[in-house]
Amino acid sequence: QVRRHLQVIITRFAEGDILLFIRDVTDRVRTEQMRRDFVGNVSHELRTPLTVIMGYLGTMLAGVDQMPAPYQRAMRQMEGQAVRMENLLKDLLWLSRIETTEGQQKHDLVDMTGLLEELREEVANAHPERTLRLQIDCREKIRGDYRELYSAVSNLVYNALKYSPEDGAVTISASCEDGRYCLAVEDEGIGIDAHHIPRLTERFYRVDDSRSSSTGGTGLGLAIVKHVAAAHGAQLNIDSTLGRGSTFKLLFPMAAENTGDMQAC
Ligand code: ADP
Repeated sequence: QVRRHLQVIITRFAEGDILLFIRDVTDRVRTEQMRRDFVGNVSHELRTPLTVIMGYLGTMLAGVDQMPAPYQRAMRQMEGQAVRMENLLKDLLWLSRIETTEGQQKHDLVDMTGLLEELREEVANAHPERTLRLQIDCREKIRGDYRELYSAVSNLVYNALKYSPEDGAVTISASCEDGRYCLAVEDEGIGIDAHHIPRLTERFYRVDDSRSSSTGGTGLGLAIVKHVAAAHGAQLNIDSTLGRGSTFKLLFPMAAENTGDMQAC
């Protein structure tokens, strides 16, 4: 027996009439599922040979200083490309996991303040030279998946660091806005031209390809943010001025358990 997927759209008119629109989207859902499975399987299969290559490369790199200069350069190039491929596979697998579980309820009560403090510590260790400010005006919790939320916020923060000068500060702020938990990541970086903004969250979409690959991005960071936002019923807003900086905002529904403390924000 074939399980069918139906899309139902209900429009209610002012006069009281209701228009019910039902469409069979089974083929579309199935094709999408096949694409997801394919990407997930390929990424998984490529990991094993890559792990072997990286293992041998690591052993050879131990003696790289004794090699002639052209070999040293080649070895470093191979190492860089292998790490790039590893990051790409990691992001592809992560994206496919998020997509697979997107329709499921996210049950954990997540303490976003703790998550942001953990991320700040990670960034301080990785980039002690950079300024990352944390401004917490809302300590509410949200329902979700800690690892997914962490990956979304960290993608936004690492982008903010990547696309801004060394002395540019990055600010993460948490506030309560109209009953929603608002998390904003703001930078003083290169900014984004308005016409790119609608396409930014597409996989592999890049404003400046050469710059993005030299900064080590996979082109999947914002696609991950978009899917985590969708899985958590959140809205993603992007506001940017070329040459001035960007603000990426995530607006999450508040967990029902918080209602008592809402006035505190
Ligand atoms: P990447 O791995 O290339 O950074 P992302 O999906 O994270 O991929 O981002 C897509 C593109 O959006 C980037 O290549 C970059 O051009 C642009 N972008 C993302 N964040 C910022 C930012 N904070 N400032 C300027 N440009 C950004």
